Amino acid sequence: MSRPNQARLDLAALRHNADLVRELAPNANRMAVVKANAYGHGAVTMARELEGRTDAMAVACLEEALELRESGIASPILLLEGVFEPDELKIAAEQQIWVTVDNAVQLEWLENARLSAPLQCWLKVDTGMHRLGAEAGQVAAFFQRLVDCPNSVGTPVLSTHFASADEIERDTTTRQLALFEQLTGDFRALRSAANSPGVLAWPASHYDWVRPGYMLWGNSPFGTAEQANAARLRPVMTLCSAVISVRDVAAGECVGYGGSWRAERPSRIATVTIGYGDGYPRTASNGTPVLVNGQRAPLAGRVSMDMITVDVTDLDPVQIGDPVILWGDGLPVAEVAEPAGTIGYELLTRMPPRTPRVVV
Ligand code: PLP
Repeated sequence: MSRPNQARLDLAALRHNADLVRELAPNANRMAVVKANAYGHGAVTMARELEGRTDAMAVACLEEALELRESGIASPILLLEGVFEPDELKIAAEQQIWVTVDNAVQLEWLENARLSAPLQCWLKVDTGMHRLGAEAGQVAAFFQRLVDCPNSVGTPVLSTHFASADEIERDTTTRQLALFEQLTGDFRALRSAANSPGVLAWPASHYDWVRPGYMLWGNSPFGTAEQANAARLRPVMTLCSAVISVRDVAAGECVGYGGSWRAERPSRIATVTIGYGDGYPRTASNGTPVLVNGQRAPLAGRVSMDMITVDVTDLDPVQIGDPVILWGDGLPVAEVAEPAGTIGYELLTRMPPRTPRVVV
């Protein structure tokens, strides 16, 4: 028996989530953020399915954009961080790739470049994230320089990025939106602010372009917190494995490295052939849920490189070969990420090549 691990990818779920973006932001253009290998799902597979359902794609860097172009993706592609050296502008121009301009150095590179065609530029505005973007006093001058620059085609799109839109109770997003209005309201330009939480929970942020990533993969950016629109998402990735051994342990016995889990009663332990070498987080603690034969059961003992152990004492009899779901269909990734001290974004993005992605 070969190892049964798979990250199963449900393209119907992807289409459903993309349609939800359109329903929630009907008047905005839609840009699918497929950076970092589409958050671990496979950028080319996801982008092919999304073409026609979105108006553009976004990635972090030129290499990611070129991978999409080489696989035949014809949609506009935006570099969210812009270029990292001036020569990249030439390739972007040849490949019709849009660039973000974040700072004066990137602006100078653009002004001094000799390009085969002018580029569509997005001017990023810092409204409180303080990571990228023109500062308040620079916005008007940068915008005008782009308008005047022969290497920039049309009117630059004005964009910003939220620091805490996933925390609905905080007023950070309201303040960022107010500053964005103040800094960009006088320009005749298209604007963009909404990431997934923006699309789902901040309609005032939709403007002319929305830029969802995480919600396309069917997971809630609000983690395990309730949010009505997020509850309508369907997970694209289901991480699957199987039971390879079952044993009874006496009360008082410990399980796994370091013996971090001790049986309080006579217990039945199922060993599942998936571990941190396959993308399951080592920091997932005792009690983190998995689905064995569709039934929830808690982790018992530390996550190993290739295996986990699960307390199946309360389940219907479990046998070697029984299917296990680690996250996805029936088990939101946030329920694993939170006890592991991280977010679903990280778990999905760092799924290693060892775990095959299989479109179902
Ligand atoms: N826009 C920008 C500038 C980003 O950096 C990201 C992701 O980090 C997104 C949009 C998409 O965010 P999310 O995955 O939360 O939708």
